[in-house]
Amino acid sequence: MNLHDLLIKHLRLMDTQKAALSRLGVHTVQDLLFHFPFRYDVGGSESTIAGLEPGQEVTIIGTLEKLETKKSWKRKIPVSEGVLRDATGKIKVMWFNQPYIAKMYAEGALVKAVGKVTGSSGKVYLANPQLERVSATDVGLFKVGENQDTSPTIYGRTQEKQEGKIFAQYPESRGVTSLWFRHAIEKIFASGILEQIEDPLPPMLLKRYNLPTLKTSLVWIHTPQNLKDAEAARKRFAFQEVFLIQLERARERALQAHEKSFAVDASSEAVQEFIEGAFPFKATNAQNKAIDAILTDMRTGRPMSRLLEGDVGSGKTAVAATASYATVRTRPQGQSFGTLQVAYMAPTEILAKQHFESFIQYFQNFPINIGLITGSGCYKFPSKIRKDEATNISRAQLLKWVSNGEIPVVIGTHALIQKSVAFKHLALVIIDEQHRFGTAQRRKLTKKSSNISRDESRLRLPHLLSMTATPIPRTLALTIYGDLDLTLLDEMPPGRKQIITEIVQPSARGAAYQKMRRELKDGRQAYVICPRIDEPDPQKAFALQAKSVKEEAKRLKKSVFPEYEIDILHSKMKPKEKDDVMARFAAHEIDILVATSVVEVGVNVPNATMIFIEGAERFGLSQLHQLRGRVVRSNHQAYCFVCPESRGEKTIARLEALTKAKNGFELAEMDLLQRGPGELSGHSQWGISDIGMEALKNLKLVEAARNEAHALIQKDETLSSSPLLQEVLAKRAAITHFE
Ligand code: ADP
Ligand code: MG
Repeated sequence: MNLHDLLIKHLRLMDTQKAALSRLGVHTVQDLLFHFPFRYDVGGSESTIAGLEPGQEVTIIGTLEKLETKKSWKRKIPVSEGVLRDATGKIKVMWFNQPYIAKMYAEGALVKAVGKVTGSSGKVYLANPQLERVSATDVGLFKVGENQDTSPTIYGRTQEKQEGKIFAQYPESRGVTSLWFRHAIEKIFASGILEQIEDPLPPMLLKRYNLPTLKTSLVWIHTPQNLKDAEAARKRFAFQEVFLIQLERARERALQAHEKSFAVDASSEAVQEFIEGAFPFKATNAQNKAIDAILTDMRTGRPMSRLLEGDVGSGKTAVAATASYATVRTRPQGQSFGTLQVAYMAPTEILAKQHFESFIQYFQNFPINIGLITGSGCYKFPSKIRKDEATNISRAQLLKWVSNGEIPVVIGTHALIQKSVAFKHLALVIIDEQHRFGTAQRRKLTKKSSNISRDESRLRLPHLLSMTATPIPRTLALTIYGDLDLTLLDEMPPGRKQIITEIVQPSARGAAYQKMRRELKDGRQAYVICPRIDEPDPQKAFALQAKSVKEEAKRLKKSVFPEYEIDILHSKMKPKEKDDVMARFAAHEIDILVATSVVEVGVNVPNATMIFIEGAERFGLSQLHQLRGRVVRSNHQAYCFVCPESRGEKTIARLEALTKAKNGFELAEMDLLQRGPGELSGHSQWGISDIGMEALKNLKLVEAARNEAHALIQKDETLSSSPLLQEVLAKRAAITHFE
């Protein structure tokens, strides 16, 4: 067996299992080994069937009988059912969505079943129990019906009470269950594959942080004898992941330090004059500090790599405009004409247009040419004829003026870097809300400079100012932005109205609707956010179903707000339909927009001052904060109604953080700490696994990983003495880099 072998070569897979594994991204033996459990269930002591009560977690040894698979009449999902019998009685067992179970166990098979007793007294059954075959000798050991108070010695320690067998629970998909994974892993382990695995972490690190080797960790994470081992293994993988990311960023940073950039030399007086003359407001202290940091970086002639983090509305555009001004005030080296250039990229066309308009306003008294390039047209400011207006120009014309340097500032979507835009002296790249923008992408932009033959500017990397309104915890920032310097805009411009946030118990919806009606009557608009679009989730056939956009929109129209125009927006609609709905909402042809959380980034409808969030406990605090940010865009009082499905105290306490936290950063920290493993969403966005996200709760671990990564890079910038680490990093890069 080889790590890179396809699983199909070693396991007999049915088509449904193949499809399920592929959905989970598991194709090879290695993928399977690194598909980690997200939880461990500990089987309790054995019970007998007679006298079981609903709600008990039990382990029962018995024989399986009458197994068969049916389709449930209601939801058309396959249900395997049968009877489990022991000396004291029998109980019905059922599995949803696991049709193969009936095929795996012969009539009368002796098994250990672990699960929860469900149903009502007198009519109980076991739903989705974990099964394990046992042999008669095992049963002799367990002695049906007797509790075990003593246990064998585990690693020299005698435990007072046997913890019970540990069952790893895996991320599942229709067709493969945790049970399947446990069997598959046993088979793979039995092949001796672990002997082939090399540990990328230097032994010195393992020793220093008391981490198990890779081989031991794999055994411990999949088949732990006790929970301590499982935890030690998880800690190792968490450390490894954070360490590898840090290592990559540290390497990137070290390489950048050797690059040349443009020395931006606008004088402090000129910049001060701009700050005072360009904006219709006084810059906040935080803005001034951010500007200082940026100018200091850009003066050095080494490429700046700075991240500006600030909540929605903290005024990042003004900072970007000032950095742009300083850049376009600087002449290319050795030239007495022309200026350095700026590319400003936004995540959507709507936002690019907004920035273009802000820049036109800010640069009124400091006339320069500004270009806008989007999929639906190109513009230049000022127009030749009307000096205070922008004019529509052809794409070819715009590209020409950018490449000969006549247009020093170009604003567009991220497509700016993919399309054939060539600059003459691109010195500053500003990026709004893109989470990673690596050296490779920067270099790509540099190559597009058209003056390669004339000077050595093709060797210069543009300065990078990355901006984000997504508040993230410090540990996450240290990790994923390890190659950037961080500046926080932690001060809001004065005079903003605080949004009123209310936790609404489901039974108190009526009162909240009353408040909404009052605002609607005053001419305001509202968002209603639901967790689902429409399809019931087959995996959760018997669980509570969250509200769906389609049904909720119907319900609101029929029995709550019949007098108002209501429409829907969700990710499964065609782009044209989405644009259309957004345009009608912006034009106030729609009063209430019922949507999923994927309301477009950059949606900006100042008249929408209310947001009602259904199933609120299903969202992270940060996400709720972002959603709430959509209604604080005007001088009207804004409201956020947060409505959970359950009235559990914990839920309410968690949501209350929304009414207490000072800002998005505080919420992001709380979010990270409160959520359990497996619940941390958004990691795909950062390219970090669940286990890595767990690590981010631990500042010490993150700092240790960071220090080690930096120390290693300082000694050996290219990692030439660690070929295994090089290889692992290259693999990671191949998966996580987008270009
Ligand atoms: P961000 O991009 O950080 O979300 P913007 O740059 O779009 O925020 O600014 C939000 C609003 O705040 C804009 O209308 C802008 O004119 C205004 N603004 C920015 N800085 C200040 C300030 N120092 N004082 C008052 N208003 C400001
Ligand atoms: Mg912005």
